[in-house]
Amino acid sequence: MDEYDVIIVGSGPAGLTAGIYAGRQGLKTLILEKSIIGGLGLTVPNMENYPGYELIPGKLLIEYTKKQTLKYAKINELEEVKKIEINGEDEIIVSSQKNEYKARSVILCTGSTHRKLGVPGESEFLGRGVFYCAVCDGPLFVGKKILVAGGGNTAIQGALYLDNIGAYVAIAHRRDEFRAEKYLQEKLQEKEIAVMWDTVVDEIKGNMAIEGVTLLNKKTNEKTEYNVDGMFIAVGDIPSNNLAVDIGVEVDQRGYIITDKSQKTNIPRVYSAGDITVGVNQWVVACAEGAVAALSAYSDLMR
Ligand code: NAP
Repeated sequence: MDEYDVIIVGSGPAGLTAGIYAGRQGLKTLILEKSIIGGLGLTVPNMENYPGYELIPGKLLIEYTKKQTLKYAKINELEEVKKIEINGEDEIIVSSQKNEYKARSVILCTGSTHRKLGVPGESEFLGRGVFYCAVCDGPLFVGKKILVAGGGNTAIQGALYLDNIGAYVAIAHRRDEFRAEKYLQEKLQEKEIAVMWDTVVDEIKGNMAIEGVTLLNKKTNEKTEYNVDGMFIAVGDIPSNNLAVDIGVEVDQRGYIITDKSQKTNIPRVYSAGDITVGVNQWVVACAEGAVAALSAYSDLMR
């Protein structure tokens, strides 16, 4: 069985940064990623608040970070961790669908997945007009009519991106104000992107592909039919906490992992970083937490 000082689960910004810091401390480090390197970072259209870059697409920043991480850590893509077993203070067994590894510490950077609207037609038209990643699927809708559902940073960033590549965009938001950051709201106004306030999607309709949606105005209870070629759903995240919960890691009422300032969980030698933890979901924060988690693991292993 291969042995590592640190196994990092997940390779978004938090996991990759943890890999850089752990490897640079001389720890034998493995990152296991169930999909491809980058996590939700790959889906961020353009970031304007990552220090050092006035504007950088998430995909490009992942590319740079991946290159840097590979100098210090091994990364296995398409290898999903299925189970973690804690055998006392010194041995953790990490099992994927391919292998079993022995680790002296584990850093959980499992991130989150997209929340669903849960309306009729949503799963039926997935990949046939319904999408959750503006960067990945948006280019299919250039010159077409897109409805964005949501009022957070992801929805507004997505709407701006889609508008920029030449889609005809409108937003439906369930309240009468956005929770997205102010600078994004200002850009939205500048671009004159239409917003339907107090409005939710009641049903997604079509034949071979999506053709329209039924909208419900929550204030007036009025339903209207709205023709669209596509729908970008951005209504928040669900923490990917199964592995954590299975080994007794403490989570808050929403399911996010609780850590202390050193990114330690309640289980010795298990640390966590990034969007899976309680706190602000920002790229720079995920990186910082990944660095702290790796340095904590190092200092605990040296004791
Ligand atoms: P979010 O901030 O949780 O926003 C989700 C949005 O969807 C909210 O506007 C919410 O409405 C709406 N919503 C939730 N459930 C809904 C439903 N069933 N039907 C209709 N609308 C629904 O999620 P997010 O935008 O994906 O962002 C997730 C985290 O990542 C946040 O912490 C965000 O700040 C961060 N992020 C940061 C950046 C950045 O560049 N700084 C970019 C992307 C994401 P209400 O407002 O009424 O609750």
